[in-house]
Amino acid sequence: MLSVTPKIELHLHLEGAAPPAFIRGLAKEKRLDIAGIFDARGHYQYKDFWDFLKVYEAATSVLKSPEDYARLTLAVLEESAASGVVYSETFLSPDFCGGRDIGAWREYLHAIREAADQAERTMGITLRGIITCIRHFGPEKAREVARCAADTAGDWIVGFGIAGDEKVLTPKDYLWSFDCAREAGLRLTAHAGEWGGPQSVRDAVNDLGVERIGHGVRAIEDLALVDELAERGIVLEVCPGSNVALGLYPDWRSHPIGQLYDRGVKVTVSTDDPPFFHTTMTREFDELNRAFDWDDGVFANLNRTALDAAFCDADTRARIGKLLET
Ligand SMILES: [Zn+2]
Repeated sequence: MLSVTPKIELHLHLEGAAPPAFIRGLAKEKRLDIAGIFDARGHYQYKDFWDFLKVYEAATSVLKSPEDYARLTLAVLEESAASGVVYSETFLSPDFCGGRDIGAWREYLHAIREAADQAERTMGITLRGIITCIRHFGPEKAREVARCAADTAGDWIVGFGIAGDEKVLTPKDYLWSFDCAREAGLRLTAHAGEWGGPQSVRDAVNDLGVERIGHGVRAIEDLALVDELAERGIVLEVCPGSNVALGLYPDWRSHPIGQLYDRGVKVTVSTDDPPFFHTTMTREFDELNRAFDWDDGVFANLNRTALDAAFCDADTRARIGKLLET
């Protein structure tokens, strides 16, 4: 029953959503040897979060052209649509798409958008892009990414954010990039409160002025912060399956999303890098249903919160809203 509910997803890394079979096929075509990143069953394998980042970058290394990204986009959206996702926002990194060269980035983006348009026609799923800089690549590269973001901001590239290793430097070190993106009209989000504690969430909200937080779940360790997030209407892009798979919480019932929801924080549900964490949007909804006894009414609330927090324009929001009502 839950699996057929239309769903909104706000936190999905395009390369991180690449089906392993797709990456293996591409590696074979290009005669690249990345066999070490797969286990015997063909799934991605890694030891911990930092090893996961390395495997992620190895998988991404086979994606070398705009055409590769067009194929990736279609493969990813096919998976999302199969889970009932009708609207998705995906993180895109000019670091991986054209090495932060603005001309090359435009070509990658053009190919991704064409594939997204095709998916919208054939699969009924709408995609928008959020450009992310990678925190452990450093502030200099983030500036180049922000320039790419400002150059292509519009009705499809709708946001700017930061991902990667939360333990490297501080949000303030990326202030220039966030200011540049904001001035270009982009909406802002930042990964925080996953590996960093409550203070990392405070820093992202106060120093970067973001309206959404990627993860943010460790805010639960400071209830004053939880209440502040609820009061200020900061939206958390929560990815429970990702947190459980990476060992942040031992199981679904221990995940703080239930408490955050009960205390009035605007929480949403996403998959982050689904094949790496053996999850899908269908599985996230099903597991939350089992862990917290959440019913269709709660999931309708989560969808509504996600749609309100989506960075798309008003016309798109209204169109997607109609899909949720049916
Ligand atoms: Zn993420």
